[in-house]
Amino acid sequence: MRLMRLFVLELRQVILGFTLLLVFITLANQFVISYRVYTQQAMTQSLEANRAYASKLADITSQLIQSLQMQLAYSAQSLSGDLDNAERREQEVQRLLSQTQSFNSVVIVDRRGEVISAAPEQLGAVGIILNAAATTQSLMVPQAMMPQPYVSPLGNLVVSPSHPIMSDTEPERYLGYISGSMYLHGNNILSRLLGTHFYGAEARIMVLSENGAVVYDSQSQHIGMTVGDMHPLWGAFMQAQAGESGAMVSTQGESQLIGYAPVKDMRWVVLVSSAQQQVVTSVGNTIGNLMEKAAPVTIITLLVIWLLAGTISAPLQILARRVRDNDKTFDDIPAWYTEAKTLKQAIEVYSKEQLQRISALNLASNTDPLTGIGNRRYLQSCMDSMREQGQSFAILALDIDHFKSINDRFGHDVGDQVIKTVAQLLKLGCREYDYVCRSGGEEFTLLLPGLDAVKALELAERLRQQIAEHSFAPVTQVTVSVGVSLWQGGVEISAALKAADKALYKAKNKGRNCTEAELL
Ligand code: GH3
Ligand code: MG
Ligand code: MG
Repeated sequence: MRLMRLFVLELRQVILGFTLLLVFITLANQFVISYRVYTQQAMTQSLEANRAYASKLADITSQLIQSLQMQLAYSAQSLSGDLDNAERREQEVQRLLSQTQSFNSVVIVDRRGEVISAAPEQLGAVGIILNAAATTQSLMVPQAMMPQPYVSPLGNLVVSPSHPIMSDTEPERYLGYISGSMYLHGNNILSRLLGTHFYGAEARIMVLSENGAVVYDSQSQHIGMTVGDMHPLWGAFMQAQAGESGAMVSTQGESQLIGYAPVKDMRWVVLVSSAQQQVVTSVGNTIGNLMEKAAPVTIITLLVIWLLAGTISAPLQILARRVRDNDKTFDDIPAWYTEAKTLKQAIEVYSKEQLQRISALNLASNTDPLTGIGNRRYLQSCMDSMREQGQSFAILALDIDHFKSINDRFGHDVGDQVIKTVAQLLKLGCREYDYVCRSGGEEFTLLLPGLDAVKALELAERLRQQIAEHSFAPVTQVTVSVGVSLWQGGVEISAALKAADKALYKAKNKGRNCTEAELL
């Protein structure tokens, strides 16, 4: 309350303040809810998109590997009768290398592990005895293989699918194998194929082999590295290796939205990941854009509210000001709504009533109740205002003669009636702007602005005569004595009044029903 007394606000400020508060709360609420909903939506979409994309790329990878294996199977088949024919072997490795563009290099290895043909020639691989783990694997298990990536004897990180070459005459007899290599760091068919599928810069694509070695990385940095069990991708990798495709949020390190899918018939895995922060940032940007676009309308709305608040508060404000300043004009106040109109009318009626009451009170306090003419107070205020204006005037002091005996003979009511009639006769006999007052019981004082002594005496005589000639039945005759004086400034008015009284006294002494003057 104390605070409210300190800050007395205008209605317009109150309306605007509350509106601003409500607008702010609404906007903040909308912002928070939109942010949550959009973020959830964007994350779900992103996860689903990453999952779908991982599945698609896993299919592509699977088809590619199958096609590579078929090419090798075809070559192994075609060499099964001619493995000793160096020219034929040469033809085949060249064809495989150049026709299909699938491999970076092709080698034919005999059953002892020695490279007997190789393309391209500049490899210089012929004669090398292979003992790398993957190669040994191919030798030991005479079947189509997709071994782990390994570093070739020539120092390239490669993945080398191979196919055994069996004798055409004795199908159980293993002659060696043919193998094509993809250089994982170089331009290889896998990167060409996966790289053409543009997915947007924000997503990262990785293909991992069985042991978690990175075979393809759309950002190239991690090719050849192995994803360990502390890596953020590890969980997704394990899921996909179990044969499932799906999506998950990895919270290890920077949060990642990861879609994963296994490559069919192999234990390879495709992962598509995007940083959660990017999604959140893009949502923030979207909402920022929304707010920016909504800003002009918001500003216009606030302006309209400001104007509206002004129009609503204006009638009340003007009314309050007029009442404060005691200004009684209300007609021009734009009271355009019911409450303001009612209030304006109420104040208007109230202030008119007040005026009437005040003027009635004024009248009552200045009027003699018996005769309806001015009383002593009125007499005083008339003298005051004429003194202020410097207006000279004549004074007539009138007293009914032997009034006591009228009362005694005819009763008090008849006496009252006589007083009333004398008052009316005086009022009728004067000018409109002369002041006629009952200054005591049966005494009257008349103030006659601008009259000189002669004119005042004339008037006094005329009034005296009119009363003396008037019929006051049942009273036979009523007479008055009159004293005349003048006030022309320079002295106190009370002195002039005393002079009039003195003149009246003289008239009484002279025998009554006559006029005397006492000039200063
Ligand atoms: P004088 O000629 O010397 O003036 O004699 P008077 O009898 O008129 O003078 P006095 O002052 O002795 O008497 C005035 C009387 O007027 C006394 C009083 O009872 C009477 N009176 C005063 N006011 C009223 C009134 O309002 N009504 C009536 N009926 N009588 C009044
Ligand atoms: Mg008297
Ligand atoms: Mg008298």
